[in-house]
Amino acid sequence: MKQIQKLLILTIVLMLGQATACAGGLRIVASLPALGQIAQGVAGEFAEVKVLAHVGQDPHFVPPKPTLARHLARADLLIAAGLGLETGWLPPLVDASRNDAIRPGGNGYLDGRSVLAEVLGKPQGKITRELGDIHPEGNPHWWMDPLNGVRLAQVIAERLSRLDPAHADAYRQRATNFAGEIHAHMHDWQTSLQAMSPLVAYHDSYLYLAQRFALHVSGFVEPKPGIEPSTSHLDALVDHIQQAHIQGVWLEPYHDSSIARKLCEVAHTPCRLMPDAVKGEGFAAYIDMFDLLAKGGE
Ligand SMILES: [Zn+2]
Repeated sequence: MKQIQKLLILTIVLMLGQATACAGGLRIVASLPALGQIAQGVAGEFAEVKVLAHVGQDPHFVPPKPTLARHLARADLLIAAGLGLETGWLPPLVDASRNDAIRPGGNGYLDGRSVLAEVLGKPQGKITRELGDIHPEGNPHWWMDPLNGVRLAQVIAERLSRLDPAHADAYRQRATNFAGEIHAHMHDWQTSLQAMSPLVAYHDSYLYLAQRFALHVSGFVEPKPGIEPSTSHLDALVDHIQQAHIQGVWLEPYHDSSIARKLCEVAHTPCRLMPDAVKGEGFAAYIDMFDLLAKGGE
């Protein structure tokens, strides 16, 4: 009997210990679903990951609700795309959270600048956000290159190792395993994606994806990032789609699908819904996104 009592007490002590480890674990907030999925893959059971935007939501314009500021108030680490993508909504939320640790430059903040070897799509000449260009710091859609996803995992693993040295080996091992999984898919993704090139994109969302897989994005539905097309722009685009043998128009769930569908119908080319995140957990969901893109989306 005494043995059983001892065992029971031991079990309870172990369970309490685990509960404490969980409650005291790291809290990560990601601005966007794909970034949160990679963070979840690296952190596993050692952190709680919250994501501010949901799958299918426009990452340039997320309604800044008080709940989101509350997530940020408790965060040890904020992961954002950066490069101005979340300028319209994330800084006010960080201000409202009163959490100085997650401000840019702090130990609790990381974005594309810590990940990218090179920022693509920097506008030449005068910066013109006033004139409608919503990407004056360069193109922020960098997680659409799977190898940038791999770099993000490595950067997160290093940052978590600093915040929580006890689990450093696990974080680094997971980032390494993820790199292996991504590399195992690259050839198949490239073959499938290249069959859909050249293409026209609604918004300049696929620059990094196109560079990685040698796809040709030869026109945009938006005349400038964030600007809706005029009728004359769409007329010119129809001619271009036909003359350049465009293999489809790519759009994301938050774009005006009626404009895109009409364009595809008139120009006799497929419209492909090519999302920047899919539902799911961890690394598997990020990999699923590229599987979906390689199938032509939806
Ligand atoms: Zn954009």
